Amino acid sequence: MESCRSSLSLTSSNADAIRPESSHRLTGEVHVIIGPMFAGKTTALLRRIKSASNSGKNVVMIKSSKDTRYAVDSVVTHDGAKFPCWALPHLSSFRQKFGEDAYNELDVIGVDEAQFFDDLYDFCCNVADRDGKIIVVAGLDGDYLRRSFGSVLDVVPLADTVTKLTARCELCGKRAFFTLRKTEETKTELIAGADVYMPVCRHHYATGQEVIQSSKNVMGSRTITSNLEALPSLI
Ligand SMILES: [Zn+2]
Repeated sequence: MESCRSSLSLTSSNADAIRPESSHRLTGEVHVIIGPMFAGKTTALLRRIKSASNSGKNVVMIKSSKDTRYAVDSVVTHDGAKFPCWALPHLSSFRQKFGEDAYNELDVIGVDEAQFFDDLYDFCCNVADRDGKIIVVAGLDGDYLRRSFGSVLDVVPLADTVTKLTARCELCGKRAFFTLRKTEETKTELIAGADVYMPVCRHHYATGQEVIQSSKNVMGSRTITSNLEALPSLI
């Protein structure tokens, strides 16, 4: 991982940092929005980006080109709200593709589905520390096995704020902190929606994993989903 390069130093070049034309260098911020699927992360991100845009800031949204569930050139929330965006495989290519002059004019950058970008840490460092911009990052903190997903948690030490959102447990309606995968597919990056994933509370995550495991062992994968639907009556 490339180390974080700050534009500030204790040498004579430090004088640049306090000149008015360079003062924007001191205004960079990193904000991180995490949570399980269906927690409203993209909605929260869009709200911040639209609010910045409405107050006259230059904004842009970036999402991973791996996620083509809704549209390649828009960020779309689960409830249908849309915003134009750049779909990229890596964040490092953004500046060059967006154009140097346009990049310099940017105030706020939103990154959706941030777990799919492995160069997230360096990008956040460069955007906030070196270029003095605000970056708002939204993504899954954990995968379906509750392991750290991609580089999202790596940027927490860089962040001004971290917001963990929750969803509603699909089985009992309580607050959901985790994403349960309803199938036996074991690939970490399985991009899908409510047909494969559901938000669950701690109790139903643990119970759900048990059901999936026993279905796999005893009955085969086809019965997993119907068994999960029967979960409330099993407890
Ligand atoms: Zn529950």
